[in-house]
Amino acid sequence: MMTKADILDRIDEEGVDFLRLQFTDILGTVKNVSIPAGQAEKAFSEGIYFDGSSIEGFVRIQESDMRLEPDPDTFAVLPWRSRRSDGTVSARLICDVINTTTGEPFVGDPRFVLRRAIQRAKDMGYELNAGPEPEFFIFEQDEDGRATTKTHDAGGYFDLGPKDMAQEIRAEIIYMLQEMGFEVEASHHEVARGQHEIDFKYDDALTTADNIATFRAVVRAVAGLHGVHATFMPKPISGINGSGMHTHLSLFQGGTNLFHDDDDEFNLSEEAYAFLGGILEHAPAITAICNPTVNSYKRLVPGYEAPIYIAWSDVNRSALVRKPAARVPAASRIELRSPDPSCNPYLALAVMLHAGLDGIEKGMEAPGPVRENIYDFTEADRLERGIETLPSTLGQAVNALKEDDVILDALGSHVSEKFIEAKTVEYTEYLASVSGWELERYLETF
Ligand code: GLN
Ligand code: MG
Ligand code: MG
Ligand code: MG
Repeated sequence: MMTKADILDRIDEEGVDFLRLQFTDILGTVKNVSIPAGQAEKAFSEGIYFDGSSIEGFVRIQESDMRLEPDPDTFAVLPWRSRRSDGTVSARLICDVINTTTGEPFVGDPRFVLRRAIQRAKDMGYELNAGPEPEFFIFEQDEDGRATTKTHDAGGYFDLGPKDMAQEIRAEIIYMLQEMGFEVEASHHEVARGQHEIDFKYDDALTTADNIATFRAVVRAVAGLHGVHATFMPKPISGINGSGMHTHLSLFQGGTNLFHDDDDEFNLSEEAYAFLGGILEHAPAITAICNPTVNSYKRLVPGYEAPIYIAWSDVNRSALVRKPAARVPAASRIELRSPDPSCNPYLALAVMLHAGLDGIEKGMEAPGPVRENIYDFTEADRLERGIETLPSTLGQAVNALKEDDVILDALGSHVSEKFIEAKTVEYTEYLASVSGWELERYLETF
């Protein structure tokens, strides 16, 4: 836990000249305002005022004044803005957003939505630990510096250099993450050409959401320095794997992992099964938040290690939830495989947590694991086993969200209304657009 005084000291010691105050809009885009370091004291005591009406999903013009309240625990020097010749550096602080009219946290702030979920868990005696596995592609840029879909290498799963040309870029990303306080556990070339994964250590839900936002910024910045483009778009190229962000979840109490049970066949506790039951129950609505773009649904198709069916498994990767093998009790957890890295990490972790807690509160039970490759199931096999499918379009997912009161409550009325509004516009626009696929297929045929 850092205090305001600690941060002011560090600003001095590190020679910080500018501080970026960051927050996230409802769609998960990081916003920031930069202040000279001399204003830091004031930022902590009075906050920094800004006009919320210009931020996606925030407020209407007549109630637009918002205040940023920096969270001292999130101070970090930005390593990619390398030390300038006069020794100065830039730093960032992640902020909570306060409604200046009421003085209360702003209900449209995704970080607050997650804080509320964490508080609900705390009231029930739980702390969520979450560990993400973000995947991304690295593409070449054209002469104008615009991203192409030409992959930067032709490597595959766990390949070594020279095929994995991004090794150096990944190494630099990792050094920068470490400088920013991340504990990076592994990094490797992913299945698709040009695709990579970097895993960092699980942490409490708020830290993990902040880390995901930071991670995306670092990856993009480092790629940019190397003249290539990194993207977290879920399915940039059809016919090969897309990018997911598998998320590992467990509930702790004190230092104890409540998801572990020595006596269970899968080493999962009753709480873990109830939490899992809640995740499966609310899976369709969760999908709208964890897979929030039109393109997300191009990833959720059979054959590319991404889930389609609402089931769990201890052995195969075609299921929505996997129970990874755990060497020690602290590592017993479930892995939700649907989220993709285009999601708003704060909202995503909030809905996962609420869904799981709902399962615990209502004493839900999880069905047995599915051991077969579900991609091979026929419609009849699935119906017989009662296995439902995830929404297959953004439109379906938004409809599922509209019908799920638990997930709507998890978001709160402000965020859910703004989110549904934005996603309905996005999906309607998409439906009316004409794609390259259609032109190729029909232009000369008809
Ligand atoms: N890229 C796959 C996905 O879309 C996951 C592949 C893997 O990590 N084994 O989820
Ligand atoms: Mg992985
Ligand atoms: Mg992976
Ligand atoms: Mg995984």
